[in-house]
Amino acid sequence: MSLIVQKFGGSSVADAESIKRVARRIVEAREAGNDVVVVVSAMGDTTDELVDLANEVSSVPAPREMDMLLTAGERISMALVAMAVRSLGHDARSFTGSQAGMITDDQHGSARIVDVTPGRLKDAVSEGAIVIVAGFQGFNKDTGDITTLGRGGSDTSAVALAAALEADVCEIYTDVDGVFTADPRVVPLASKIHRITSEEMLELAANGAKVLNIRATEYARRHGVTLHVRSSFTHDEGTIVYNPTEGQQVEEPIITGVAGDLSEAKITVVGVPDVPGKAAQIFTIVANADINIDMIVQNVSHKGESKTDISFTLPKSEGERALDALRASAADIGFAELSYDDQIGKLSVVGAGMRTNSGVSAQLFTALFEAGVNIDMISTSEIRISVILRADQLNDAMRRIHSAFGLDSDIEAVVHAGTGR
Ligand code: ASP
Ligand code: MG
Repeated sequence: MSLIVQKFGGSSVADAESIKRVARRIVEAREAGNDVVVVVSAMGDTTDELVDLANEVSSVPAPREMDMLLTAGERISMALVAMAVRSLGHDARSFTGSQAGMITDDQHGSARIVDVTPGRLKDAVSEGAIVIVAGFQGFNKDTGDITTLGRGGSDTSAVALAAALEADVCEIYTDVDGVFTADPRVVPLASKIHRITSEEMLELAANGAKVLNIRATEYARRHGVTLHVRSSFTHDEGTIVYNPTEGQQVEEPIITGVAGDLSEAKITVVGVPDVPGKAAQIFTIVANADINIDMIVQNVSHKGESKTDISFTLPKSEGERALDALRASAADIGFAELSYDDQIGKLSVVGAGMRTNSGVSAQLFTALFEAGVNIDMISTSEIRISVILRADQLNDAMRRIHSAFGLDSDIEAVVHAGTGR
């Protein structure tokens, strides 16, 4: 008998009809002879609505109370799903995050899982029940308080439970058919990826692909959990995200996918004295302001002067804070000025086959040149190349690059319902 963990996102449990559909799906897995543990998100846009409500009653909602409030969303869906499953004639029991043994640190709003002790779930499963768990939430032992894992955290709940229960597979049900070679809303000829390594998935998620939560992907990679990302609206196979074992020979396409990201901005520190210690100074200031930087480029010295420019990218939402921190140390660092550009886009191509194939960057840059795109910054990892370009050129560039690397499918991808919120 296999143990399957199934996770249903908010769009899959948005209303009573959807909940009944999900319940039938769960029962199918059970009747096929599996033990089933289910993780659910809050119905539809419930979490956003609760956040809006909180902001109406308080300009700075207390983090502890925010977690109390938001975890209610998942409790509603877990109970409703359990009722719907029971009405199909199967035993089902719902559990909150703390009842399920999701132990976290005490960071309200972005808690990290420190331990998973699913004793009660195991008991219920061994008694033949289908277990329904509220995603996105946990419990801190020191404070005795309820925590949340951060937006989109139910994926992580599901993966963590799958790891702790040694499940055979963790199925992530969503409103798209799987992981695509690019976002089908931008690249209509994107095709579904059948199998992808967790390493590639991580690079795609970290560079703008939104189908799978990045922390969940990381967790799955670290704990060797196999994921199956699939649609709750069809019975088609989705995308298997797997961890190749040491030495396993895998057929790796050179390019697996193209990702786009419009969430970053670029800061250039102009006229920095070209002497040892300046980069250290700048990035210490930025780090102390708790800002996550992505790419960094230092230019060659200006002719005849010993000055240089240093550029880096960061989330737009942290731009103001970074500028303030740098301005406050202007005299200390001795730069001439700061420039800020929030009209940038990042295009990334990812593929494990890049390791053994040279010429991918030449092919990428040629295709960008042919598309009339000027490249602003470049960064690479073993299996990824990212370029910064103008924001208004990103979508077109993604379609061109997708096509240049032979990823186009013959038919347009179907985009199901879902607000993408
Ligand atoms: N309901 C939470 C959110 O919307 C968690 C999740 O959906 O994964 O962020
Ligand atoms: Mg949600």
